[in-house]
Amino acid sequence: TTFSTFNLNKQLLNAVADLGFETPTEIQQKAIPIIQGGQHVIGIAQTGTGKTAAYMLPLMMKVKYAQGTEPRAVILAPTKELVVQLAEHAHNFAKYTDLRIVPVYGGVGIKAHIDAIANGVDILVSTPGRFMEIYLKGDLPVKQIKTLVLDEADRMMDMGFMPQLRKIFEVIPSKRQNLLFSATFGERVEKLSQDFLEFPVRIEV
Ligand code: AMP
Repeated sequence: TTFSTFNLNKQLLNAVADLGFETPTEIQQKAIPIIQGGQHVIGIAQTGTGKTAAYMLPLMMKVKYAQGTEPRAVILAPTKELVVQLAEHAHNFAKYTDLRIVPVYGGVGIKAHIDAIANGVDILVSTPGRFMEIYLKGDLPVKQIKTLVLDEADRMMDMGFMPQLRKIFEVIPSKRQNLLFSATFGERVEKLSQDFLEFPVRIEV
């Protein structure tokens, strides 16, 4: 199998080729077509399996066809380090596109984040706390959000982000695609997924 068997455009395929990816990994082979079919997905996959591209590439195709200046997709991750890393991955995949990816996280000034969002964002990558902080200031348009990704959901549970996640689920549109990725599938992630995803497809690698 090659990446060209997926429904990805030339810009994304060229970026994937530049990164030296030749064969899709197992999670990519399984998840990309299902995500493109619009279903909710629970992906149980460790870091190193290629899980980031597994959701990022179909997400980018979807966002591309929903034009606008407000965020159409949000990726939530537990730490600043992961947010920055995910945004870097995203920028690599998006290098031949005009997609705007904005990373935001706590512990630094909020103004630069608010300005970046005001300038236009397609995919927002955020920690849960900073998302709510910007939202409560009235500086985060949420109405166009059609996809929500929870990356490293188990770590978000371990770090006590459940209350923030619940608030975020309440303020963003309920009609959306949900994608949950986690290295483990323990009791708390199972509970989260029950609350968060209706009839998900579960993919384990
Ligand atoms: P991840 O599990 O998403 O953190 O990805 C782990 C590493 O594998 C990253 O450095 C990716 O750039 C790389 N990677 C992801 N997918 C592929 C692929 N299909 N072929 C080669 N490398 C890949």
